[in-house]
Parts: sequence; structure tokens; C-alpha cells
Amino acid sequence: MQNIEVIKKNLEDIKGFLKDEKVMMANRLKSKIIGFLRDFMEKKEFVELLPVIASPVTDPLSSPETTISFSVYGYSLQLTKSMIFHKQFAMLAFDKICIFSPNFRIEKEDLWKSGRHLIEFTQLDLEVKEATREDVMKLGEEMLTEVITRVLDEAREEIQFFGRKLKVPSRPFKTVTYHWAYSMFGKDFEVELSRRADAPIWVLDFPEKSREFYYRQGENPLYLRDFDLIYPEGYGEAISGGEREWRPEKIRERLRNKGIDQSLYYPYLIMLEQGIPPSAGFGMGVERLTRFIAGLESIKYCRIFPKLPGKFGL
Ligand code: AMP
Ligand code: MG
Repeated sequence: MQNIEVIKKNLEDIKGFLKDEKVMMANRLKSKIIGFLRDFMEKKEFVELLPVIASPVTDPLSSPETTISFSVYGYSLQLTKSMIFHKQFAMLAFDKICIFSPNFRIEKEDLWKSGRHLIEFTQLDLEVKEATREDVMKLGEEMLTEVITRVLDEAREEIQFFGRKLKVPSRPFKTVTYHWAYSMFGKDFEVELSRRADAPIWVLDFPEKSREFYYRQGENPLYLRDFDLIYPEGYGEAISGGEREWRPEKIRERLRNKGIDQSLYYPYLIMLEQGIPPSAGFGMGVERLTRFIAGLESIKYCRIFPKLPGKFGL
């Protein structure tokens, strides 16, 4: 039971927050950005699917212990942290799919200070059958440049309100390897690399040990055929994605090497055994994109009921 006084205080805070013009403008901007993203995906012939909120198995991400499970009709369900497994499954029916997918993740408590973490957020999640890493990186570059171009033209009032100086990045974006970024800035390279960059920058080839088991390994199996896109000016990670592993024997080997109990992923393993096509794709956080475009110090302004890590209320 929550204390009535705490609930009242929280409601007062939310009322104040809702009346903040910054919140109104950021959410108006986000609404336009979602429209521009949809137009782009439609032009590229993607089929938009609706999100899955709960299913027998979800992406463990780096912390399976923070997966939220509950029981319905005696069956165990998990809240979606990402739609990766569903996206791979959907490749049986579609060549190109996208979903505005709500994710619920219990992030580490102190990340409320990062300015870029919510525990409830939405990613534009997309997947392309038989695509390569390079194909989807090109798509990501086109998508970001088109959204920024349209914002500058069609969201002038919002951009002026935020006093944001934004330029359309030129393509192709610069790329660095994980190895390079790590050796330059250490394990928290995301922040430092972003702070020093004046244009979006790709980070490629994450070590197999550092990421989930569903990314495809490269020629050197210690590295993955994956990527992150990092925003400039300190706004941090924009996108994560890559090529997916679709061969069950490879996934079994990866699970074994990572010491993960295979029985936790039976629905996924059985799906792979029955056969799915290879694919590549990525996820791009919608609130983070809005934060970057508006130039906001905190992502919280990009949702009207933001949930920050470790906090009840704003
Ligand atoms: P991931 O697969 O974990 O990299 O998530 C895909 C994208 O969603 C990231 O590149 C971010 O843009 C966004 N994202 C991930 N975690 C969060 C979070 N806690 N709050 C807001 N956006 C997030
Ligand atoms: Mg990521």
C-alpha cells in the first residue's frame, strides 16, 4: 500500500509537469517525429505490426533477473523488454516489419541521473528478412536524416521553442569499432564518444561476450555482426541492432558457453528448430530521438507520465 500523502504529492508533481510548456512542446514534437518515422517506413514498404506486451519468453538483455514474470490461467508470462524473438518469428510471414514497441525494463536505480533512461519507453523496432548489417545501417542513416530534414521544415515552431541548432548529418556516417572505442575511452565509451562527436557515429563489432546470444557472430566468432549508433553532443546511444543468428545449433552453443539454462528459451529454440530465415534489424528509442532533436537535458520531458529508474514519480 502506498502512503496517501505520497500519492497526493506525486499527483501534484504530475499536474505541474503537465502544465510545463516544455513537456507540451516535446510531446508535440514527438508526435510529429512518429508521423515522419511512419511515413518513412511506409515508403520503404514495411508492414507495421502491433506490439506484444507479454509472452512466454522475452529478451533477457544483460539482466535476466530483472525480467518481470506473472501467471495467467496457470501459464507464466513475461513483460516485453524487446520484441526480438517475435521479430524473428514474423520473418516467416513478412519481408520487412516495424513495430512501435513499448518496453518495460528495470534499469539500475542510479540511471535516473543519466538523462536518457526511462523504465517504460518505446522503441521503433524493425526487422528485414535476409538483410545484412550494412543494409540496415543504410536504412538507419536514411531514416535519421529524413526525420531531421522533415523536422527542420515541418516542426519549426517546436525547434524554435527549444532554441535547437540542428543540422542534417551527411551520409555515410562515420564508423569506429568497439575495440577502438573501448581502447580510447574505456568501458563507458558511449558517453565520452558521444560528447566528443559532432555527428552520429556507428560503433561496430561488439564482443560476443558483451551482448545477447541472438546476434550473429562475425568471421572472427569473438565479435558480432552488430552495431550501435551514437548521437553526437553527449546524447548517447540512439540505436542497437545487427544480423541475427537463426541456426538452432549455434544458439544452443552460445547458451551453453554463456552458462544459460536452455530450458528458459525452449519456445525460442523450438521456433528455430522448425526453421526461420536469417534477418537483420534494429531498435531505435523514440523518446531518445525526441530528446536529441529537441536538445533536452532529460528524456523525462518526452513522455507525459515518465517513469524514471529507481523513482516513484518524477
Ligand atoms: P536496446 O536493444 O537495449 O539497445 O534498445 C534499443 C533502443 O531503445 C536503444 O538504442 C535506445 O534508443 C532505446 N532504449 C534502450 N533502453 C532505454 C531506456 N531505458 N530508456 C529509454 N530508451 C531506451
Ligand atoms: Mg543498446
